[in-house]
Amino acid sequence: MTEKLEVDWTVLAIDAGTTGVTAIAFDQGLRPVARAYAEFPQGFPRPGWVEHDATAILQAVDLVTGRVLAQLGKAPAAVGITNQRETVFALDTSSGQALAPGLVWQDRRTAERCGELREQGLGPMVRERTGLVLDPYFSGTKIEWLLRNAPGVRAAVDQGRCAFVTVDALIVHHLTRGQALATDPTNASRTMLFDIERRDYCDELLEVFGVRRESLSPVLPSAGPFGTAELAGPSGPVSVPITGLLGDQQAALFGQGCTGAGDLKTTYGTGCFLLLNTGDSRVSSTAGLLTTLAADEHGGAAFALEGSAFAGGSIIQWMRDELGLLRDASDSEAMAHSVQDTGGVVLVPAFSGLGAPYWDAEARAAIFGMTRGTNAAHIVRAGLDAIAHQCTDLVEALRADSGLAVRAMRVDGGAANNKYLMQRQADLAGLVVERPSEVEATARGAAAIAALGAGLLDGAAIRSALIEECETFQPIPRGADGAAPEDVAAVRALWKDAIARTRSRPSPD
Ligand code: ADP
Repeated sequence: MTEKLEVDWTVLAIDAGTTGVTAIAFDQGLRPVARAYAEFPQGFPRPGWVEHDATAILQAVDLVTGRVLAQLGKAPAAVGITNQRETVFALDTSSGQALAPGLVWQDRRTAERCGELREQGLGPMVRERTGLVLDPYFSGTKIEWLLRNAPGVRAAVDQGRCAFVTVDALIVHHLTRGQALATDPTNASRTMLFDIERRDYCDELLEVFGVRRESLSPVLPSAGPFGTAELAGPSGPVSVPITGLLGDQQAALFGQGCTGAGDLKTTYGTGCFLLLNTGDSRVSSTAGLLTTLAADEHGGAAFALEGSAFAGGSIIQWMRDELGLLRDASDSEAMAHSVQDTGGVVLVPAFSGLGAPYWDAEARAAIFGMTRGTNAAHIVRAGLDAIAHQCTDLVEALRADSGLAVRAMRVDGGAANNKYLMQRQADLAGLVVERPSEVEATARGAAAIAALGAGLLDGAAIRSALIEECETFQPIPRGADGAAPEDVAAVRALWKDAIARTRSRPSPD
C-alpha cells in the first residue's frame, strides 16, 4: 500500500504539454509531493503538418492523474490545468470524441490562407482585436481548415454537437464526463477569435473564419469553478473541483510570482518564451511582439507582452545530436568555461528562420568568424551566447515597447540550469537574473491558480509561497547613462552584424 502523506491538502496540477502530460501534486506551500509523466505520439502526415490524437492525450491525462492519486493515497482538494496553447480540436460534444486529429500549434498548413488574409488587408484588424499577428500558429485558421476539410465536422456543427476546443477545454470536458465545457482568457487569447479588450469573442473575426459563437467554449475567469472532475482514485472514483486554467506560458509567469506590472519571466526550453506582465495597460508592439492575456494576483486577466525565440535549448541538442560536440546538454557549461571567449565566433541559430524582432522566415542558420584555431568549445560557447543574445534582443524590444525599465527577470526551463548561460544573460541584457530552486514553474502556476480558485490560498499567501529564495546572477555594472560596458557593446555589435548577414532580404532600415 502507498504510505499516506502528512499534508493538510494538495492540489493536482495537470500540465498537458506538446509531447507529454505531467501531473504533479503540490502541498499547501506549493511544493511538489508526487509526480507522474506520460508521452503521447506526434503525427506528421505531410511536410509542415503536425497533428495530435485527442484520445491519446486524454489517456495520458488519465494515466498520470491515476498514478499521482495512487502516490497521494487521498483525493486532492482541487485540480488546475495548464496546456500547450493554440492547438485545436473539433470535439463531438455528444460522444466526447474528437471528429478529426487536432491541429498542433506548430502546424503550418494554413500558411497560404494567412497570406491571403494579409493580402486582403486584415492584418491590422487582427492585431487590434486580438494582439496577435496573422500567422498559422494561432487557432483561427486551423478551425477554418477543420470546418472546410475534416469529414463530418460541418455536419456536426449544423447539428449543434461540435465544439472547437483548445487542450484545456478538451480536458475539462473529458474529466467532467461531458458535464462542463469551458476555457479561460489566457487560452482564448491565442485563438485569434478573442477580443482581448472586450474579453469576449469578436463577431467580426467569427465571420471571417466562418465560426459560430455556439461552437466555442464559454470563457470563464482563470481562477474559479470550471466543473467537477471525476478522477480514478486508488480505491475508486473521486470527485474533485477543477478551479484553475492557464495556458502554459501564462502558467509559468504566474508560477514565478510575476503577477504585477513590470514582472518578467523567460522559460528556456526547446525554444525561449519571454512574457512581461504589463498589468492594466495594453501595450502594442512596434517590434513584432504579441500582446496577450495573463493572470493577475487575484486570478483576473492582466495584459502581457510576449516574445519568443524558436531555437533555445534546441541549439544545444543540435550540437549534441547532429555535430557530436557534447555527450550531454549539461556538458555545455564546462565547455563554455574552458575557453576565455568565443574567439570571435558568432552563431546565428536561424534553423527555422528568425522570429521577433526580425521576422524573416527564409533566413537560415550560420556560423561566422571561424579561424584555423577555432575549436568545439568556442562553438559551444557561441551556441549558448546565441540563446542569450536572442533573449536580449527580445528584452530590448520589450523595453522599447513598454517603456518599463525591466531590471530583473525570473527564469525557468531546462537550459536555465546552465549557470554560464544565466550569467551571460544577465551581462548582455543588463538585468538581474533570478532563478528559483524549483524550476517546475508551469505546473506550479497551475496549482497556484487552482488553489486561488478553490479559496484554499489568497493572493498574498500565493505570492509569499512563490517568491522564494532565488539564486541571482548580477549583470556587469553599467554606466550612469545605462550604457553597456565596452566588451558587452562589442559582442552585441558582432551579433547584430551576424544577424544582418544572415537575413534573406536587407533589413528595412
Ligand atoms: P521543453 O519543455 O521545451 O521540452 P525543457 O524545459 O525540458 O524543454 O528543456 C530542455 C532543453 O533544455 C533541451 O533543449 C536541452 O538541450 C536544454 N538543456 C537542458 N539542460 C541544459 C544545460 N545544462 N545547458 C544547456 N541546455 C540545457
